[in-house]
Amino acid sequence: GKVLVTGANGFIAIWIVKKLLEQGYSVRGTIRSESKGKHLKEVFKGYGSKLEIVVVEDITKVRVCTDYRRVYSRSDAIGASTRSNIPHHPPTSARTIRTTLITPAVQGTTGILRSALQHGASVKRVVITSSTAAVLTQDPNPRVFSEDNWNERSIGEVETKGREAAPFDKYRASKTLAERAAWNFVEENKGSIGFDLVVLNPPFVYGPILHAVDSVENLNASMQDWWAAVSGKKDNKFLATVGSSWIDVRDLAHAHVLAIQKEAAGGNRIIVSEGPYKWQDWELAIAVNAAHAAEPKLPAGNSSYEPAKAVHYIRYDVARAKKLLGLEYISIQQSAKDVVENFKEKKWIA
Ligand code: NDP
Repeated sequence: GKVLVTGANGFIAIWIVKKLLEQGYSVRGTIRSESKGKHLKEVFKGYGSKLEIVVVEDITKVRVCTDYRRVYSRSDAIGASTRSNIPHHPPTSARTIRTTLITPAVQGTTGILRSALQHGASVKRVVITSSTAAVLTQDPNPRVFSEDNWNERSIGEVETKGREAAPFDKYRASKTLAERAAWNFVEENKGSIGFDLVVLNPPFVYGPILHAVDSVENLNASMQDWWAAVSGKKDNKFLATVGSSWIDVRDLAHAHVLAIQKEAAGGNRIIVSEGPYKWQDWELAIAVNAAHAAEPKLPAGNSSYEPAKAVHYIRYDVARAKKLLGLEYISIQQSAKDVVENFKEKKWIA
């Protein structure tokens, strides 16, 4: 079969492309400008014509529909993955929140679905990379979230506070509204669409870098956080008390492939998460690996941290991912080891 991957040059998307090619799929990847295709072609040159790269400059603009015809023809499944709207400098006015964050997120998602409806007669399934940002709400007490939960609070924060809303609420509102728009689109067009929808909701995604990144400063947002925490830029209190939940990028890519393959996954949003962490857990994972390799090159962090006593306020029930996808997870030790090796190869770690 043939799979379309949008934003194919991104941190997550390039791993999806890799997993698909490894499993024998043909892949059509979209990028926003010609130059972004060079690295992709280089990485996957062994696959020859199995990988096709097309330029779609602005996925939210209807005028690129003729391009979409090309994009979607003969695609059996599409992984409409990978557009991110995390701005490095979050917008400040209410109007820029709407124009730079919410509208592109929603229109990007519905634009892809509309295009698949209009031009993708052979498309059987669409997989969208949402986020646990569309699931969680910050609570004072520890809580377990499932796919039944929707992040209404961030939408309310942005609606009432506008520019004063916290940057994370702006991002979370955009993800929640984009995912909701996708489900609404499928519901409204159920009489005429030939595909079903799977939405994956990952928490923070970490792991080795396969996409084009020239320096550690230009990593994608989640890996910038990872690097800041493990390279000694954060204090002991931060390391022991701040964290979230995570999944390795390779598992998330695998989940996208499974989401295409598993018939029963259709119509579901699915949380995919290895589990919660505090940043010191990454320090410990790195230390364990460094001890084995006898070359501790990164700071050890907070030596009084006790993992068993850490309080994780947000946890996820991942039973659905287990049942529908059979997804297994790479451990924090393995992930840490692989990222450190990857960063050493890139000479980002001496
Ligand atoms: P990256 O920044 O590495 O990749 C983002 C991709 O989206 C790039 O291909 C980028 O193209 C493209 N893109 C950005 N803006 C637009 C736009 N307006 N129109 C079309 N394409 C656009 O991000 P990640 O791989 O980390 O994230 C991918 C997706 O996963 C996002 O939807 C994100 O919200 C979601 N996600 C990520 C998490 C994480 O921790 N990384 C956690 C949970 C969800 P270009 O290179 O041309 O800018």
